[in-house]
Order: sequence, then C-alpha cells, then structure tokens
Amino acid sequence: MGIAEQILDYQLKRGVFDNAAFAGAEGIAKRAVAEGFDTLSTKQKSVLEPYLSKTCSGVTDPGGHHNECAAELEGEALLDAYHRCDDTECLVCESCNSDEGYYAHQWDRISQE
Ligand SMILES: [Zn+2]
Repeated sequence: MGIAEQILDYQLKRGVFDNAAFAGAEGIAKRAVAEGFDTLSTKQKSVLEPYLSKTCSGVTDPGGHHNECAAELEGEALLDAYHRCDDTECLVCESCNSDEGYYAHQWDRISQE
C-alpha cells in the first residue's frame, strides 16, 4: 500500500470523512484504498487531494504565544503526524511536536513550583 492509500485508510478508520464537504469523498477514498490511488480519475483525485496535505496546527508555549507554524504535512510526514496525534483535527509537524514535548516538561515544572 502506498503512502496516499495508508493516509486515506487511516482517515477512513478515524471518521475524517464523516463531515466531508462532498458526500462522495468517503466512497472515493474507499476505492483508492481498495484499488489504489492511481486507479482514480483526475476528478476523483482532486476530491481527495485536500485530504492528503494538511497544515501544521502549531503549538502554544507556556507564555501563551502561538508559534504560527505553517508547515505543510504531506506523504510520510502527514502519516507520521496522524500516528502521533490523537486528534485528527490537530496535526503538528515534527518540529512542533518536539517543542510540544519540551513545553509539556516546562508546564510540569511550573505546576510543581
Ligand atoms: Zn509545525
């Protein structure tokens, strides 16, 4: 299974298509997983394209400052982000993820002071 199919498979399992703007998106995604993304027509691919690239949600530091990260997540990076984040609506890139871990550590320290 290619990366696109793995991402769509994960999205199908997590109900990402439940609120799809286009009701047919889920069926197309299922077909992509079953038969391969490349078997889709250009039109069908364009329906799924927005799902295959997401912008990083960024992280907020303990001072309340959001880092405004605008990293594009696609391919393996997107799949990694899905596996890393429980919330399919809140995906972060690798750099933000390590910042987040660092902030969590800081929060722990602050709350123990
Ligand atoms: Zn980021």
